[in-house]
Amino acid sequence: MSMTAKEVLAMARENNVQMVDLKFIDLPGTWQHFTVPIEQFGEEVFTSGVGFDGSSIRGFKTINESDMILIPDPGTAFIDPFCEIPTLSLICNVYDPVTGKNYNRDPRFIAQKAEAYLKETGIADTSFWGPEAEFFILDHVRFDHSQYAGYYFIDSIEGFWNSGAEMNGHPNLGYRPRYKEGYFPVPPTDTLQNLRTEMVLLLKEMGIAVEAHHHEVATAGQGEIDMKYAPLTRMADQLMMFKYVVKNVAIKHNKTATFMPKPVFQDNGSGMHVHQSLWKDGRPLFFDAGGYAGLSELALYYIGGLLKHAPALAAFCSPTTNSFKRLVPGFEAPVNLVYSQRNRSAAIRIPMYSNSPNSKRIEYRPPDPSCNPYLAFAALLMAGIDGIKNKIHPGDPLDKDIYDLPPEEAAKINSLPGSLEEAVAALQKDHEFLLQGGVFDEDLINSWIEYKTKKEISQIKLRPHPYEFVLYYDI
Ligand code: GLN
Ligand code: MG
Ligand code: MG
Ligand code: MG
Repeated sequence: MSMTAKEVLAMARENNVQMVDLKFIDLPGTWQHFTVPIEQFGEEVFTSGVGFDGSSIRGFKTINESDMILIPDPGTAFIDPFCEIPTLSLICNVYDPVTGKNYNRDPRFIAQKAEAYLKETGIADTSFWGPEAEFFILDHVRFDHSQYAGYYFIDSIEGFWNSGAEMNGHPNLGYRPRYKEGYFPVPPTDTLQNLRTEMVLLLKEMGIAVEAHHHEVATAGQGEIDMKYAPLTRMADQLMMFKYVVKNVAIKHNKTATFMPKPVFQDNGSGMHVHQSLWKDGRPLFFDAGGYAGLSELALYYIGGLLKHAPALAAFCSPTTNSFKRLVPGFEAPVNLVYSQRNRSAAIRIPMYSNSPNSKRIEYRPPDPSCNPYLAFAALLMAGIDGIKNKIHPGDPLDKDIYDLPPEEAAKINSLPGSLEEAVAALQKDHEFLLQGGVFDEDLINSWIEYKTKKEISQIKLRPHPYEFVLYYDI
């Protein structure tokens, strides 16, 4: 489906396009944009780009060196379904006008470098990615931030039930999903069917193949839409389009969608399990009929790399203070750094739905949809490559229920970091594997750590928490 510049301009003419919307990705992983009238937009833009001021972009440059260039990638073109006037949308790479080179903090560039590095190693020529992004659809009015603070941090299932019921906009609804039973009764208990279908149809129009959609476990209106696997940068682009569609369809229906990992206390959080596999010359490299769970030795080493670097990876894959409220026992989110073909509390699961060589993949469960997908996928790939290059064996799988293990055995199992602060500290210590082939650089790692520490970790520490009022107000 990848288009050339000429084909994109032809598509614009066919669709009577009046505006061209240029989008790029900031450091935390959200889309930023500006729009140019079609008559300003000729074929040369695909080579020379359009200038913009990068000074107030989160995580980008300081004000005195803020001029930047955006060069759109013609392969990302789509007609924006939410614009009233026909508008062509393009995802761009960010360039530095002084050096004429890619901007080193452009997340999309890092993803592209990771793909190039994989080829360079000779290990594989393609990696395929299948993220399962979960999200909540909540009532618009209820999710006014100012109301939210007082409303939710209630330490009882009773409080949870009441809030959950009203959040869905259906007070006293007999068809309300039972606690943890959102997965997956039919409507009217599933109130989001039509909304998800609308989202899927738009994704298809935008060129994204979808495999399935369903309600998720959480009671308070949680959904999942699964895209068909795609190569790394393409999948990160698709994830941006996916979030855009989910949020904008929700708003159209006077609802709001959130990808924050743990919006509701004592309900399941939103994860983004990431399925991954490597391919060379059109052949899958993760399959071996004789291996554990049908995995090749190369796949085991890839797993070894992921598990070894998992604490550092958490800084990119679970990159918000809220992420660590999801990564707790009891909600199908992983805590333990082990792999297994069964265990959903393991960080890595080997799906056994089909044992065909082409579908053999591993599922890395710690990530959540608050991540910047370009950085998260690139970091995961780099950890996997490190595992393969250094033959890091992941040890034995753990197919038993971790909670049934004798305490001395359970104590040997490593776990994910317990907070963003710990994850960032782990990245500080362990990031050599990310620098290989110049994929990540020290400036990017340092900016990430600084951004996360100053703008998120410290800011959360400074603010009184609503639950502190429950604990201490009457002290
Ligand atoms: N919501 C769970 C998580 O946070 C996953 C649930 C599932 O897909 N089985 O990872
Ligand atoms: Mg799923
Ligand atoms: Mg799911
Ligand atoms: Mg899954």
